[in-house]
Amino acid sequence: MTNAGSMLVVSAHAADFVWRASGAVALHTAAGGTATVVCLSYGERGESGDLWREPGQTVEAVKERRHAEGSKAAAEVGAEYLALDLGDYPLEVSGEAMRRLVDVYLRTRPEVLLVHAAADPFNPDHPVASAAAVKARLLAMGAGGVPAAFPTIPPPAMFAFEPHQPEQCGYKPDVYLDITPVFDRKLAAMAAMTSQSYLAGHYRERAVQRAYQSRYLGAGPETAQVETFQRMTPELRDRL
Ligand SMILES: [Zn+2]
Repeated sequence: MTNAGSMLVVSAHAADFVWRASGAVALHTAAGGTATVVCLSYGERGESGDLWREPGQTVEAVKERRHAEGSKAAAEVGAEYLALDLGDYPLEVSGEAMRRLVDVYLRTRPEVLLVHAAADPFNPDHPVASAAAVKARLLAMGAGGVPAAFPTIPPPAMFAFEPHQPEQCGYKPDVYLDITPVFDRKLAAMAAMTSQSYLAGHYRERAVQRAYQSRYLGAGPETAQVETFQRMTPELRDRL
């Protein structure tokens, strides 16, 4: 997670990465790494609540707003923003869309890959995005260490970012990341997502609660905000 190479985040909707991983992205880019956020959809129908309160609203207008908001949020944490515009509620990833996603992996060659947790009983699209990100990783890396008929990348370390309701998603964090030095960047990214303003407070408080928990791992009082992650791939080390 401290690697200053390439980081890739696969987000089901335009804002998911902002609440759950923008601190990690900001830390990564502040350390000199590059980061790309791929949003499979804008979440235009199911996750743009505030915009649908406006009379006469249309799907196209919501998508435009979400593109502007997502781009601004990504820029606040130093990331490139790519939107595949695959639709939401339901999100469906066709063969052609999978090829576009794999192309992003091949171009960015991530050392660190951040994805949704595999399960989410409250959201129809997050598990689809998780499965697509995992499949794209396997298609991009091929079978471990042997030549293939297609271009491949080294295996990225893969982490799930924290779901909205972690316990319900079977999420058990095993990486606690101190995002205090870049928390102002995360606040700016969250502020950019005006169509889901109701979530900013939730994730501000989550970061503080996770910081308290990190005390048990040795963090001091200077650690004020934390994001958590769960490893989805085993870790290769030189020694313990
Ligand atoms: Zn979402």
